[in-house]
Amino acid sequence: MTLDFMTAPDEAAALAAGSGEGALFIAGGTSVVDLLRLGVQNPSRLVDITGLDWSTIERVPDGLRVGALVKNTALAYAPEVMRDYPALSEALLAGASPQLRNMASVGGNVLQRTRCSYYRDPAIGACNKRTPGSGCAAISGYTRMHAILGGSTHCIAVNPSDMCVALAALDAVVHTRGPRGERTLAFADLHTLPGDHPEVESVLEHGELITQLHLPASAFARRSAYVKVRDRASFAFALTSAAAGLEITSGKVSAARIALGGVATKPWRSGEAEGALLGRPPTRESFASAAAEAVRAAHALPDNRFKVELIQSTIVRALERARDRA
Ligand code: SF4
Repeated sequence: MTLDFMTAPDEAAALAAGSGEGALFIAGGTSVVDLLRLGVQNPSRLVDITGLDWSTIERVPDGLRVGALVKNTALAYAPEVMRDYPALSEALLAGASPQLRNMASVGGNVLQRTRCSYYRDPAIGACNKRTPGSGCAAISGYTRMHAILGGSTHCIAVNPSDMCVALAALDAVVHTRGPRGERTLAFADLHTLPGDHPEVESVLEHGELITQLHLPASAFARRSAYVKVRDRASFAFALTSAAAGLEITSGKVSAARIALGGVATKPWRSGEAEGALLGRPPTRESFASAAAEAVRAAHALPDNRFKVELIQSTIVRALERARDRA
């Protein structure tokens, strides 16, 4: 395996694209190095992008611009983020451990791979995400940590990121640069559902890099919150999580954003729950009705059936915290 240290984005993109599926980008390494050690990923080339100049958080007229190489800790404690996007700060601080947050980049967090045990341990079963077409040991296996939303008959792995749940709720925008130039896409359109091809997790092409995120300024972003339920108080992935943002006008919900984690195969915006809240008073009863809408399409298995109820409580708690954040 070769390791190339890059300082120019276009050269990094071209090098990775020219190496096809044999190349991986590496920044903080907190996810990639794990997978190399486990033998789950075996690239012929690592393209080190830590020399690129994408480590700034910048206020712009309509929000905040966040470079892809900003560390998770720096983003979580940025005063603008704590004040104007509290759900994002809370989600970042709910993720991993302080040591990992100090190393992990924003772009790497966005693209981190699933924590499905079967994906990460080739010895315990087949995995369509690791070896396309080989089967999915999870579906007939132990599914306590798996998805109840967005799964297919080929994969039910959960997207593991906390940060991504907040970004989905906050209408973040992703900027990329690749062999075919630059493009901009809504964060909600970045990750793909597993469908017939669980090995594909995003719409990014080979060699395409996330360069920055844009966080639009909004009233619901300022009044937002993130709630995570997990087996222990730190360094644990979500059983369920929710990011919620509210705008309240004349005692009624005039805008709502709700995204879910720990329950879905991608960061999961619930348009059904958001729609159910519009025009309603911001009460616990309204929040519970909205939460029920969020799980109407859930498909649970015996080991993860508890998530159907737990995610509803999580949504209600996140909405209450957002409401009370005036
Ligand atoms: Fe692999 Fe997805 Fe099945 Fe897990 S759920 S074993 S990641 S195909």
